[in-house]
This record gives sequence, C-alpha cells and structure tokens, in this order.
Amino acid sequence: MHSKVVIIGSGPAGLTAALYAARANLEPLVIRGLQPGGLIATTSEVENYPGFVEGIGGVELADSMEKQAARFGAQFKDTLVTAIDASVRPFVITTDGGEQVTADTIIVSTGASPRKLGVLGEEQLANRGVSYCATCDGFFFRGKKVVVVGGGNSALDESLFLTRFVDELIIVHRRDSLRADPVLQERAFSNEKIRFVWDSAVEAIMGNEQVEAVQIKHLKDGSTSELAVDGVFPYIGHIPNTKLFVGLLTLDDAGYIVTDTRQRTNIPGIFAAGDVVDHVYRQAITAAGEGCKAAMEATWYLAEQEHAAKKAQHAAG
Ligand code: NAP
Repeated sequence: MHSKVVIIGSGPAGLTAALYAARANLEPLVIRGLQPGGLIATTSEVENYPGFVEGIGGVELADSMEKQAARFGAQFKDTLVTAIDASVRPFVITTDGGEQVTADTIIVSTGASPRKLGVLGEEQLANRGVSYCATCDGFFFRGKKVVVVGGGNSALDESLFLTRFVDELIIVHRRDSLRADPVLQERAFSNEKIRFVWDSAVEAIMGNEQVEAVQIKHLKDGSTSELAVDGVFPYIGHIPNTKLFVGLLTLDDAGYIVTDTRQRTNIPGIFAAGDVVDHVYRQAITAAGEGCKAAMEATWYLAEQEHAAKKAQHAAG
C-alpha cells in the first residue's frame, strides 16, 4: 500500500493533519496507534476547546474530528508502527502485523503517555484499582474511596470528574500549592468529597487482587502513614511517545521530537505535531494547530518534489 501522507497517531494533532491533508486531495492514511483519539479521548470534559460553549466530552470531540477527516477521504488503520526506514524514498513503514506501507511524507503525532509513579505495587495492580483514565474507569469506583496523585490541571479535572462516582477522594501532592488553573482549584477546594494531603508522595500501593491501601510519605518530616483506599489515579504529567524515533529523528533531552517553527523534523518529508513535540502548551487546540501546519507543510513539500521531478524530466528529455 502507498500513501502520499501517512499520519502516525490519531489525537487532535493527527486528526487535524488528516483533515487538512484530505482536503488537499492527498488521501492521507492515519495509523491510529495504541490510543485511538489520543489523550483527549481519555479526558472527561473539554471546556477550553473553542466553539463549544458548554464544553464537550473528550471521546465525542475525537470522534467528531475523525468523522470530519473521513468525510474528505482520510483512511484509517488500527495498527501500530514498529519500524520506519527513512533511508529510502518513498519511506517504508512497517506495522505490527508485518505489513509495509510506503509514504512520500510522514506526519508524526504519536503524542505522550501518562507518567507512572514508579512505586511498588503500581504495575501489579494496574487495572485492579490503579488507573490512568478516570473517564474510562471512574464508573467502577461508585461509592468508593480513591487517591489522585498530582497538582496539575489533569489531576484536578479528573478528580472533579471522579467525584460523580466516589464517596471520598484524596489528592496527594508533593508540594503545598497547586499548579492547576485557579478555576479548577476553586472547584476542588469547594467540593466536599475532596481533601488534600500536602507535601506528600505515594510510596507504595498495596493489595492482593485489588488496591487496598497506599503508603504515603510526608516529604518534609519523613513520616509515613497508610491510607485504606480502593483506587489510585496518578496524574503526574506525561512522557513523549518517541521510542520508535530514537536514532532517526532529533530528540531533545526530555525525548520530545525537535522541529522548526514549520513542524519540520531533521528529515525532509517527515513532520511532527502535537504532544510529541510540545512540552510547553500541551493543549488540544495547540496540537490541532500544529497538525494543521504539518499537513500544509507536507502539501507544499509534495508540490515542490513534483515540480522538481518535472523540471528534471524536462531537462533530460
Ligand atoms: P502537569 O501540568 O505537568 O502537572 C503534573 C503534576 O504532577 C504537577 O503538579 C507535578 O508537581 C506533579 N508531579 C510530576 N512528577 C511527579 C512525581 N514524580 N511524583 C509526584 N508528583 C509529580 O501535567 P498535567 O496535569 O497532566 O497537564 C499537562 C498539560 O495538559 C498542561 O499543560 C495542562 O495545562 C494541560 N491540561 C489542561 C486541562 C484544562 O485546561 N482543563 C486539563 C488537563 C490538562 P509540581 O507541581 O510540584 O511540579
């Protein structure tokens, strides 16, 4: 299979790139990846995407973006990319089923994944009370008591969502002030189901079949205590999904893909957009904007290549 534009990843950056590339008649192929819809599809309510006065559900927003791109001819594939050969033109992309897709241009929009706490019990009890997606799993915690870790917008947004289900929610934060936007802080402070444990870290998650308790360490006096809970939701930031690009694309010290202001990577014909590039803004709207830029750049790149090929042909013949 060959495509003029292959987009790897299907969050707001990838889906917006797909919309623009499709409207440029490039029939882009979107390889959806591990998390179809991207992180926005794991977000309960999106209140800051322009145009939605009352906000919109994350799944609904991702779904609408995909349908809009499909309406103009974008194709979708549910698979993962395992290798990219950029030493040849067209590029050769191998998927986990062993299939090979060739591409004249690639837009990388593989996003970022939730950062893990890295504590005892976290891995063993994943999906048994440890969850990184309140939207997906909140319902299972009806009437229960849970811990959320972190002090950013995600921690507070998802805590507020979880209070629809849980009886009690404890936010454990490593400092004594929050990073989250003031509007979210006000809502969390006035929610009677939420209480805060400041200057503290979750050191271990305990339980046999299911989460039963967490061990909390007070970071200032070093004391530890145990808290009986049914669930743990870490919201402590993200790490970029760039394993596939090590040795291929230029990455910064934190592992994000380096692009110029036109979303161009170090390899001509490969562009990158969204959370895989951006560790400053990390918003759905900025990812969408970068996806748009990447698709327009890919369109111009292809036109230039075509023009150069025609010129060479003309000169030769
Ligand atoms: P974030 O803003 O980076 O916040 C991460 C939080 O986790 C911080 O409070 C940080 O503590 C804490 N943390 C980091 N590493 C930790 C560790 N190892 N152990 C314990 N705590 C740790 O990440 P985010 O909340 O996921 O947000 C990411 C981006 O998405 C942000 O730009 C945010 O604005 C955006 N976002 C926006 C909305 C919205 O607008 N409604 C909703 C969700 C996300 P410190 O504060 O001490 O550094």
